[in-house]
Amino acid sequence: MSFLGEVLNTVKEVFDVARSTATGMSITLSQIPKAKKTVSYPEQPVEIFQRFRGEHMLTRNADGKENCVSCFLCAAACPADAIYIEGAEDPRPYAERATADHRYAKIYRIDYGRCILCGYCTEACPTDAIKHGHNFEWAVYTPGEMVKDKEYLLKNFERDKDLHIILK
Ligand code: SF4
Ligand code: SF4
Repeated sequence: MSFLGEVLNTVKEVFDVARSTATGMSITLSQIPKAKKTVSYPEQPVEIFQRFRGEHMLTRNADGKENCVSCFLCAAACPADAIYIEGAEDPRPYAERATADHRYAKIYRIDYGRCILCGYCTEACPTDAIKHGHNFEWAVYTPGEMVKDKEYLLKNFERDKDLHIILK
């Protein structure tokens, strides 16, 4: 490349950098006059979008029966291998069972040390048994505490209504 070509390239690069810097700064400066959304968390609730993918919950139907039929589709869809299920059968009539179907999950665990909150499990579930709740307050001290069992996930279905959040 000729000397003149190199000079022109350098000038073009300087111009591009200046233009992108100006674009970035204009966005930054345009935010300064706008109203600030500072929340005194945890005293004040934070705003969470309805579709926020928080900690999962295992749902129940209108009769209070567990919706999970232990089909393993959520575990198969999980790219992080975070879901562990053991299925079982309860041949008793509907009224006597704790579950909507005679097939149910005896063990259902999610390892949040692996989960990437992608939502694939919820999309794969044919009975809407596994859903994302809105809880984001799940800091723990040990890796073992990151594994949440079925009872905990079922309780999340009740707890989700009482979270200290505002749904948008
Ligand atoms: S949200 Fe994604 S990573 Fe987490 S358990 Fe579901 S499928 Fe697996
Ligand atoms: S949560 Fe849904 S997809 Fe997973 S085992 Fe239960 S019914 Fe099947």
